[in-house]
Amino acid sequence: MISARIKQAVRDVNDFPKPGIVFKDITPILKDPALCIEISKALADQLKGIEIDVVAGIESRGFLFGPSLAQLLNVPFVPVRKAGKLPYKTIQQSYDLEYGSAVIECHQDALLSGQRVLIHDDLLATGGTVVAASKLISQLEATVVAYSFIISLDFLNGRERLTPYTQKVFSLVSY
Ligand code: AMP
Repeated sequence: MISARIKQAVRDVNDFPKPGIVFKDITPILKDPALCIEISKALADQLKGIEIDVVAGIESRGFLFGPSLAQLLNVPFVPVRKAGKLPYKTIQQSYDLEYGSAVIECHQDALLSGQRVLIHDDLLATGGTVVAASKLISQLEATVVAYSFIISLDFLNGRERLTPYTQKVFSLVSY
């Protein structure tokens, strides 16, 4: 089972980046190329039957599997980045963090009106990041049709925050 192999590879790092957080470190997965290929395929398999025009990946760990997922789906990949990193004209979306706020952005020509977008990130926690990404996508009049994660932390109830956009929320592993 791919979920068992992912769980075996993921490393829990206690108290990172701050006390009380158990950080799910996926870097050990990247040392296993066969597992990486299987993960990309499993992510794509979960999406069978859903019409997707673009994969939008969230900086930074959404850039690890997002492009290979997009390639398997044969659609473009769009990077959603932290403010100030993208070189061309951008649109922005701010969102609240536990302390303070953050801004994400994408290029203003990243999506066309009406395009069906899959949002991919490595991990779903509270959902704040992908909700902000969903608002960014709405600004360009595109539609979020599904979310794809390697890991979801279900005890944080992030899925509930995504239902206004779509109920199609997939992950390979849940905790
Ligand atoms: P959230 O916006 O709360 O859903 O947080 C999701 C984002 O923060 C993703 O980009 C994750 O990579 C990262 N993240 C949040 N919590 C963790 C965690 N416990 N382990 C690894 N990454 C996390």
